[in-house]
Amino acid sequence: MEMPLILLLTAALIATQVYWHRRLARQEACSRGEGDALRQRLGETETRARAEQHALLNSMVDGVLWLDAKGCIRLANDACAGLLGLGGEFAGRPLIEAVRSHELASLVERLAREPVVRGFELKLPGAEERWIAVNAAALRDGDEESGGLILVFHDLTRLKQLERTRQEFVANVSHELRTPLSLIQGFAESLLGGAKDDPALNEKFLRIIDRNAQRLALLTEDLLTISELEAGRSQLKIEPVDLRSLVGEVFEEFQPQAAAKQVELESDLAPVVVSADRGRLHQVLSNLIDNGIKYGRVGGVVRVGADSAAADELEVRVADDGPGLPPEALNRVFERFYRVDKARSREEGGTGLGLSIVKHIVQAHGGRVWVESAPGRGATFKFLLPRAPMPAGGPG
Ligand code: ADP
Repeated sequence: MEMPLILLLTAALIATQVYWHRRLARQEACSRGEGDALRQRLGETETRARAEQHALLNSMVDGVLWLDAKGCIRLANDACAGLLGLGGEFAGRPLIEAVRSHELASLVERLAREPVVRGFELKLPGAEERWIAVNAAALRDGDEESGGLILVFHDLTRLKQLERTRQEFVANVSHELRTPLSLIQGFAESLLGGAKDDPALNEKFLRIIDRNAQRLALLTEDLLTISELEAGRSQLKIEPVDLRSLVGEVFEEFQPQAAAKQVELESDLAPVVVSADRGRLHQVLSNLIDNGIKYGRVGGVVRVGADSAAADELEVRVADDGPGLPPEALNRVFERFYRVDKARSREEGGTGLGLSIVKHIVQAHGGRVWVESAPGRGATFKFLLPRAPMPAGGPG
């Protein structure tokens, strides 16, 4: 709902509350002596109206705060208490005492001069920094006395975090593109400047240009995959996939890289069928097996296996016996562009996006991916996949 609309609605609710309160007070004054029945009926109506308003205010996602003319809290809905961290008995307490925020105090001061303030951004410090947009208005009751202030809080934290992630991503991508591009540019200039006539340099420089052009191509491809997965554009084509034969296929493709490092590729998979998008699952296995070879040990083993996690779920693992990962990297390796050793990753032709792609794909299948490792003890990447339903009549 539009913020100013919520502000209006809330102001109307509070005005109704004030109306009922005054009406009851007036009726009480007039009807003193007219009998208890009328007073009781009015009292019940007011109680009902209050309960309805309470329910309505507490069902709102936005925080609503009503301050009296002295700046003390008259009402705060649950969302407001959560956002501002109001605890205990806050009704009647001065706002500046309940919430220690200079910015909020300055907004309240501003409302003494301006009847309405829209889109005021507030940053609340704390263990978890929060960003809040506030729309606020001074309330005037019928007699033009101050009816206090009404403030509506809209949580912007998630939006700000997304914006920060986007900015970091753009900065990272630019950085990743710049290195190979400037190498290509530099060596092409050297060739044009005369190195092309020196047969030894000529070949060497062309190889550098070729290697960096390939790196750019890989990076572009990974970026496109990430953007497709994030936009949800690439709909998964779920079908029954024979995992053992798919792993065999990937092993064949990686045989030359494995042989170059004397790495054995082993599978102890039993025949098993999973529900997955074959192409995407191929990508997951390729990225993990590729990493096992790249970051494992020369002369080591990369082993693929699987266990039943539940009746309808399979836990697939890709393990190597290399140097493994330090504890602080275990949760971070799935972040875009996170690398334990930047130089090593670049040397191996890494883009820093492989595991982020793995995570996206596994999550799109409704699964989860994680890594278990200890320095010097190898790394085991595990992910959950749904099993394909058994054909009618059972396994045979
Ligand atoms: P990269 O393109 O750098 O390989 P990834 O997203 O595939 O990007 O991996 C991120 C980082 O995680 C790597 O740079 C590496 O530091 C670490 N890593 C991934 N797999 C392994 C592994 N099997 N053993 C040790 N470190 C690994």
